[in-house]
Amino acid sequence: MHCRHCHERPATRPRGLCLTCYDLPGVRLRYPTTSRFGRRGLANGCFAPPTPTFPTQARPGSPEKIAVLAERVRQGVALWHPEDATLAGPVSEPALAG
Ligand SMILES: [Zn+2]
Repeated sequence: MHCRHCHERPATRPRGLCLTCYDLPGVRLRYPTTSRFGRRGLANGCFAPPTPTFPTQARPGSPEKIAVLAERVRQGVALWHPEDATLAGPVSEPALAG
């Protein structure tokens, strides 16, 4: 089997890559793992996804919150924002000084 990237050298590294391509910056990320143990789904890898840009005021369990979560999955960001509304209501914003 030849390298999935250069199609020249034998694939001796994970992801079906040769040693040279496997070590090139960015090349490894372009090819998903071929191991059945490496496919873990969203938010189950060895990385922390970025925090969503904005919190939501949708209450937990509401259809609006579920739509927000689906959109966050689509964007590849974390499901939860620290300032998302809770069952007790929106997280209060710090009082403005002056
Ligand atoms: Zn290669």
